[in-house]
Amino acid sequence: MSIDDLPTPALLVDVDRLEASLRSMQARADAEGVALRPHIKTHKSLAVAGRQRALGCRGITCAKPSEAAVFVDGGFDDVRIAYPLVSENHFAAVAQLMERARVSFCVDTLDGARAASRFFARHGRQSAEVLLKVDCGYGRVGVAWDDPGAPDIAAAIAALPGLELTGILTHAGHAYNGPQGDESQRDALVRVAAEERDHMLELATRLRVAGVIADGRPFEISIGSTPTAVVFEGARRDDGLAVTEIRPGNYAFFDLTAVSLGACSLADCAFTVLATVISLRPGPDGGLRGAIDAGKKVLTSDQHAGAAGFGLLLADAQTMTPLAGATLPALSEEHGWLRLEPGVELAVGDRVRLVPNHSCVVASTQDRFHLVRGDDVIETCTVDARGRVT
Ligand code: PLP
Repeated sequence: MSIDDLPTPALLVDVDRLEASLRSMQARADAEGVALRPHIKTHKSLAVAGRQRALGCRGITCAKPSEAAVFVDGGFDDVRIAYPLVSENHFAAVAQLMERARVSFCVDTLDGARAASRFFARHGRQSAEVLLKVDCGYGRVGVAWDDPGAPDIAAAIAALPGLELTGILTHAGHAYNGPQGDESQRDALVRVAAEERDHMLELATRLRVAGVIADGRPFEISIGSTPTAVVFEGARRDDGLAVTEIRPGNYAFFDLTAVSLGACSLADCAFTVLATVISLRPGPDGGLRGAIDAGKKVLTSDQHAGAAGFGLLLADAQTMTPLAGATLPALSEEHGWLRLEPGVELAVGDRVRLVPNHSCVVASTQDRFHLVRGDDVIETCTVDARGRVT
């Protein structure tokens, strides 16, 4: 089948770019001696997770128990829920999954950990594996890495019945803030990646002093975002403490946000939206204004610092050449507002491909995406965990 046969809007993933990114991240993890545990929230697809596993990833990361269930049902036997769970219904879901797979989750408060302990001490057939979520500078959730009370919190969690504290976990989401002052893009990524690594290793040192990390017992130090993973190095320290795994997700598809940070180039972006020009008329500036059939319900409202609109239109998706003079400055629910400068040749009925600002959210708007090579559709993948947000 050709992409010309697909109804639009449609989500396309260039299979060669996808494979190249999956291989490159696996090679980076292997070279640094850490496990790669990709976050599947980007594709939510058993088919792509299968490709990641075939290349050597050890386990996967999910955000929610219902999402994890899709992957356990699909045969994945090591799933980490990188999200603080506090509710009985979540603990019950995890306990069920633990019958069939290794499943771990995060705690980031003593109250949440005590709730988990009450559940698993009473109902669990085995202790639940938990990791303490740590804030290494992002400011979203987690115990601050430099909180003087962090070792006490970790020790208190480790002592709770029904739980086994097996590690610490962080996500350097502040890598998405980009460069500060006149810092280069690469320096910004390297700075945040070093912070993420070093803050976690410093906390681990304090946990070792406090006796939370016992000599000779494995203890996981889990880090990861795509912008920090692409420059990650130096997992191991002389004192024996080491980052054990990285959890990037977006790298599978990449997008304009990753390009804007310098985490990849436009040519690395595997994920595009295929849309049809549905309306065009003369605009006040001598150009044309009109619309494509992909609006907020496909492209979402996500932007990134410096975004020129809601996606980058391509003149040629094989060479990833932008369509100069064409922009998408606004979206309605079902319309992408198209602006064409004088001389841009597009007609009603033409199909366009565009790179979205944020592929992870765009992928979860649809039931399926198509793996393509050139204009050929190689395989259609279901977004198996679509809507699994509980
Ligand atoms: N780990 C956690 C806890 C996350 O929240 C995310 C992304 O939201 C990731 C890993 C993956 O990061 P990225 O989207 O930069 O690949």
